[in-house]
Amino acid sequence: MTAPTLDEVRAALARVDDPEIRKPVTELGMVDDVRVDPAGGVDVRLLLTVAGCPMKDTLTRDVTREVGALPGVTGVRVDLGVMSDEQRRGLREQLRGGQTEREVPFAKPGSLTRVYAVASGKGGVGKSSVTVNLAAAMAADGLRVGVVDADVYGFSVPRMLGVEHRPTQVDDMILPPVSHEVKVISIGMFVPNNQPVVWRGPMLHRALQQFLSDVFWGDLDVLLLDLPPGTGDIAISTAQLIPNAEILVVTTPQRAAAEVAERAGSISMQTHQQVVGVIENMSWLEQPDGSRMELFGAGGGQAVADSLTRSVGAAVPLLGQVPIDVTLREGGDSGTPVVLSHPDSPAAVALRGVARQLGRRARGLAGRSLGLTPTGR
Ligand code: ADP
Repeated sequence: MTAPTLDEVRAALARVDDPEIRKPVTELGMVDDVRVDPAGGVDVRLLLTVAGCPMKDTLTRDVTREVGALPGVTGVRVDLGVMSDEQRRGLREQLRGGQTEREVPFAKPGSLTRVYAVASGKGGVGKSSVTVNLAAAMAADGLRVGVVDADVYGFSVPRMLGVEHRPTQVDDMILPPVSHEVKVISIGMFVPNNQPVVWRGPMLHRALQQFLSDVFWGDLDVLLLDLPPGTGDIAISTAQLIPNAEILVVTTPQRAAAEVAERAGSISMQTHQQVVGVIENMSWLEQPDGSRMELFGAGGGQAVADSLTRSVGAAVPLLGQVPIDVTLREGGDSGTPVVLSHPDSPAAVALRGVARQLGRRARGLAGRSLGLTPTGR
């Protein structure tokens, strides 16, 4: 069998994506040299974006697999180098695609990314669980999805998605880790030893701005933001940085929770954002005999949807009801969202239903606050 040509080896390399940037290594200037000896031995020299890149083993494995599968190849040797400052600058410019520093790509008028800011009135209602499951379900449906964990006081998204390593930094550009095909960035990745974050409004605003402008997200279909509970600084910063972000409210069936959730949703009145809908979580616990035990009462989700419909003056639907499900909690603890680990469990079915509605939605005016001040209710 004859050894492959250089072109054949390059074509095989074009099938290897950088695990973080998600583009072929051949397009990123990462292939420095390729040699093929007459006996079929192939030497590939790759340039990593930064020394100690956490993805080097994955890259070596993928290159060895793709090149090794070519007919006539008897061995693959991968040698790793590091890009020079100049090469890195070129890559950064290529990835930014003309975007200037500090610009939030999702806020540009032509942006095709749908941005959902997931809000709740209080903590512990399952906002983060809902966020990661929607993200994983949409990604499994083939959408390009990113998650910003902006819940600065209770960041839990990395654990729930099983993200173990920190983002790679290419000068001032941050490459988000990818888990279950979802790009993830969290303030928890930047604080040592899981320390609590005690930042004031302006610092939070800057952190969020950095997450949106300095992180290389690539072309996303959907970006989900996990907001802290309540109506605080981050919700207002989100509205300023991405005015077209739509609000998704998570609540439980409990009336007391519903009242605070409604307040979180009605912030859209001030920021003129659209409320895309309400998700009720922990709706019931299914008993072995098939009956439903309503641990937290009933009707909270619908009550929030109805009340927001009245206050924003446009239909705000109840998008779904997610039952209490042990597999959902286990999925969060183990880093594999329930929509992937147990896609047919009752909670996963409900979450996948909502993900499908949100992932495929066309842009519209439904639920957008009209910016009118009600004179009396
Ligand atoms: P929040 O982001 O609102 O603070 P989390 O998503 O962190 O809430 O959820 C709080 C806890 O409740 C977590 O331990 C999570 O696993 C659990 N949980 C959330 N929703 C459900 C559910 N439907 N069934 C079972 N456990 C749930």
